[in-house]
Amino acid sequence: MDLLNTLVDKGLRRELPTREEALAVLATSDDDLLDVVAAAGKVRRHWFGRRVKLNYLVNLKSGLCPEDCSYCSQRLGSKADILKYTWLKPDEASEAAAAGLAGGAKRVCLVASGRGPTDRDVDRVSETIKAIKDQNEGVEVCACLGLLSDGQAERLREAGADAYNHNLNTSEGTYGDITTTHTYADRVETVQKAHAAGLSACSGLIAGMGETDEDLVDVVYSLRELDPDSVPVNFLIPFEGTPLAKEWNLTPQRCLRILAMVRFVCPDVEVRIAGGREVHLRTMQPLALHLANSIFLGDYLTSEGQAGKADLDMIADAGFEVEGADQVTLPEHRAGEAGGCGSHASAGCGSGADAGCGSGAEAGCGSHEAGGICGTAAVATAGEARTDLVAVRRRGAGTDLAPNA
Ligand code: SF4
Repeated sequence: MDLLNTLVDKGLRRELPTREEALAVLATSDDDLLDVVAAAGKVRRHWFGRRVKLNYLVNLKSGLCPEDCSYCSQRLGSKADILKYTWLKPDEASEAAAAGLAGGAKRVCLVASGRGPTDRDVDRVSETIKAIKDQNEGVEVCACLGLLSDGQAERLREAGADAYNHNLNTSEGTYGDITTTHTYADRVETVQKAHAAGLSACSGLIAGMGETDEDLVDVVYSLRELDPDSVPVNFLIPFEGTPLAKEWNLTPQRCLRILAMVRFVCPDVEVRIAGGREVHLRTMQPLALHLANSIFLGDYLTSEGQAGKADLDMIADAGFEVEGADQVTLPEHRAGEAGGCGSHASAGCGSGADAGCGSGAEAGCGSHEAGGICGTAAVATAGEARTDLVAVRRRGAGTDLAPNA
């Protein structure tokens, strides 16, 4: 297909595809799906080989958020039966992080619900970062605390944070339909603050909220312009008790096309499959590893993922390898940038962050929500609710039970 040959050539040169080309990827037929995956897979392997970076979420503060992000189980007025707790102590967070690192993660993503941190919250998180870094040499830490005020990104950087996550989530044109308590511009500004402070920026999206193909292309082009080091792609988990509970719009094939489009538009960036991986890709998860070079290990913020061992088995069975702490995530030209993750100068960052706050689709605040469990194999079509695939998190941080890692 000429389209795919063109996109591979552009991806290898880091050249921006046209919007029409990006839209055409989303419009490909199921007959062409493997060709699309193979083409985007060439771009993925060129920049990231067969490495898969593992990231681990620690939900520092769960639920009770005053914001109204409609995708989020932690939002104002959410009836979702999630864990609700206030700030974990530094040693509690460090213990949870250690489980993820022992499971193979190289990055810990510290996420807290809320509009944004107070200066006291930044102090708390700074203590937590110190506790984690003292006990785990070489670990990358990403913070995801919502909208940042002036000076807070610099303070987090000084405290040892490598990265900051805040997702754009959806297009500027439709942002007001999903959230009214803050704006798209607020989100952009926080990503820019993180970048300016020398933190590796992580910013991504949530697919499946009823958006059009044009919206998806818009947000991915906006992300390319913001130039984050990592782009988490969340697939909406329509939590019961949230306004988007009925939005079961995704199929595994659609998720693969979206990941391929993101890879073509952001070829040399860490593309991370975030919340909703198990729920929406289901048995097609291994194919998605040909597109994304990063996933979350274990559970999400408010929902449970498949067992950590299943993640590791899947990576090995698909012929990929878990990225080691001594391997730099990003390509050389990007890793060397100030604040770029993977930068040798930046204390071991190796990629940039996670589905963190700012997007509540779970895998990182910035979108704080998504999650989900896998296990059953029934076939679902778009529009058909699969609430059986969504398990609210009942273990790990904020509970007495061991975390999944
Ligand atoms: S995404 Fe973050 S800011 Fe929005 S409701 Fe959820 S926790 Fe609050």
